[in-house]
Amino acid sequence: MGDEFYEIDGDRCTKCIGHYDAPTCQQVCPIDNTIIVDPQRTESNEHLWDKFVGLHPAG
Ligand code: SF4
Repeated sequence: MGDEFYEIDGDRCTKCIGHYDAPTCQQVCPIDNTIIVDPQRTESNEHLWDKFVGLHPAG
């Protein structure tokens, strides 16, 4: 509601793989269908896991 909005950085989003069983932002957002998957960015779970490991190299 307003001029300010947030954009998810797809290079840092793992769809919560490595942290939770499902995308947490979608679960906690009170408005349905506001956080949607970018159709240009189709990533396998294996790729998302590799991204997670790359973002958290110390373990
Ligand atoms: S909460 Fe999970 S699914 Fe949502 S932007 Fe963050 S990493 Fe991605």
